[in-house]
Amino acid sequence: MIPGVRLILLGKQGAGKGTQCVRLSHHYVVPHISTGDMFRAAVKSRTAAGRKAQAYLEAGELVPDDVVLGIVAERLDRDDTKARGFVLDGFPRTVAQAEGLESLLLPVGVDLVVDLEVPTEIVLRRLAARRVCAVCGTNYSTTNPPKVDWTCDVCGGEVVQREDDTEAAIARRLALYEAETAPVISWYRDRGLLAVVEGLGPPDEVMGRIVAAVDDARGIPGPRP
Ligand code: AMP
Repeated sequence: MIPGVRLILLGKQGAGKGTQCVRLSHHYVVPHISTGDMFRAAVKSRTAAGRKAQAYLEAGELVPDDVVLGIVAERLDRDDTKARGFVLDGFPRTVAQAEGLESLLLPVGVDLVVDLEVPTEIVLRRLAARRVCAVCGTNYSTTNPPKVDWTCDVCGGEVVQREDDTEAAIARRLALYEAETAPVISWYRDRGLLAVVEGLGPPDEVMGRIVAAVDDARGIPGPRP
């Protein structure tokens, strides 16, 4: 494995992007950049971006492109991303964001965009069961809880249901995915940068499929039989 990669993970809410991005960031030794996590942290600490984003997050609406591109530009300008790359999670979600990202990254683009495919009925079941650590954001579920009494295994924080995992906000986010983010998938396909990866199955298997697609895109031979 060659460390460093510039990777984007697309997929519906609940497709497993967060879980896979954490693993991929360890595998390729690059920062995991989640715009959702950045906005939740900004809302909590009441920064300017947080105050602009709060109402959108609560309603499951998309934060305006200029605000999103602002926080991403700042993050991509740090030394770790410049030197090693990144795994982007939850961004870009609109074609305008994809175009903005392309300009931010000039002259070098991304290595690959992975569309993690999971049927909507499975995603709805996963979102209803999803629980997260309120402090560090580690993902759990009602079928995969922390070891002790809804206390995070990683940091000891309280494990809760996300505030925007209500039925109404989930339905809104999935509708927005179809309307705004599905065109992003076509946008990357047209540029020859897209790999569609089946997101069903144990996380280790899904991770193996993604790594094989990334290595293939970078011309790195896979394991021989
Ligand atoms: P996530 O954790 O990726 O599901 O994001 C949670 C919420 O943050 C979304 O429902 C949006 O309100 C906001 N958000 C995160 N990323 C973006 C983005 N790229 N564009 C617009 N809004 C975003």
